[in-house]
Amino acid sequence: LAKAQGGAGYRFYTPDMNTRAMERLLLQNQLHQALELGQFQVHYQPQMDLRSGRICGVEALVRWQHPERGLVPPAEFIPMAEDTGLIEPLGEWVLRTAAREVRGWQDRGLPALNLSVNLSPRQFRHPDLPGMVERVLAESGLEAERLELEITERLIIVDLEHTVDTLSRIARLGVRVSIDDFGTGHSSLAYLKRLPVHALKIDREFVDGIGQDSDDAAIAEAVIALGRTLRLQVIAEGVETREQASFLREHGCDAVQGFFIARPMPAGELTGWLS
Ligand code: C2E
Ligand code: MG
Ligand code: MG
Ligand code: MG
Repeated sequence: LAKAQGGAGYRFYTPDMNTRAMERLLLQNQLHQALELGQFQVHYQPQMDLRSGRICGVEALVRWQHPERGLVPPAEFIPMAEDTGLIEPLGEWVLRTAAREVRGWQDRGLPALNLSVNLSPRQFRHPDLPGMVERVLAESGLEAERLELEITERLIIVDLEHTVDTLSRIARLGVRVSIDDFGTGHSSLAYLKRLPVHALKIDREFVDGIGQDSDDAAIAEAVIALGRTLRLQVIAEGVETREQASFLREHGCDAVQGFFIARPMPAGELTGWLS
């Protein structure tokens, strides 16, 4: 085990450590090398504009192609990457890869798309984040207006002053920011008013209940109304049925993303799907 872990990732273990903890440790050390070994991939999930019915953008979602485990979902390694700091180079790699690919499709004659990329709290706290974003845009040739960065409510309340400052620097680049998983955190409406953000993403927890749970439907409606009042774009995630999409359109939601439109897919598949 120690050998497989390599130098920097070396950790001691004791015989009484349970198997789960051992597995976690092994995965963590493998994760450390996965970036150099080229084991990460970016998948893309289309977003549909509800007024025109056109595909307006894609969200980049990272995947880990593990040699023995197959495709590992981000829920299993993003928190680990966040703890170890790997999220900084990994997040930058995702942004750079996605910006280059999306720009590339446009160059090959496909309709121009917007690109959404998730930012973790640790990435958001990095003092050079706006500088990094600016460099990636310059290198890839992706127009700033095409890029949207997704942050979560959790991150906003940690340090409001820093959040406002960073968001303003990002906004000055011409890049948009959305609040992901909206409604699941604790953002106060007063914060929301003060922040230079452009869109809200209704969490799929609420979308899920549309058509079955009247509370969920009411929450989805309230988020759409809030977005309109604050002049923010509203996009619903986790849309799986036609009924959910219709409900959202009728209530003024701007765009939808979810299995009803398409699952996240690798770049090669997406370009085929688009044409
Ligand atoms: P998220 O940003 O809220 O992404 C949406 C998640 O919902 C994705 O899961 C997507 O595959 C899933 N999804 C989309 N449509 C549907 C649907 O109709 N039904 C259901 N049941 N699920 C749907 P995924 O790809 O497993 O990603 C999970 C989370 O991992 C993301 O949630 C995001 O928070 C994080 N993540 C993914 N990629 C990155 C990344 O590059 N950087 C960072 N920091 N986080 C990432
Ligand atoms: Mg997201
Ligand atoms: Mg989300
Ligand atoms: Mg529910």
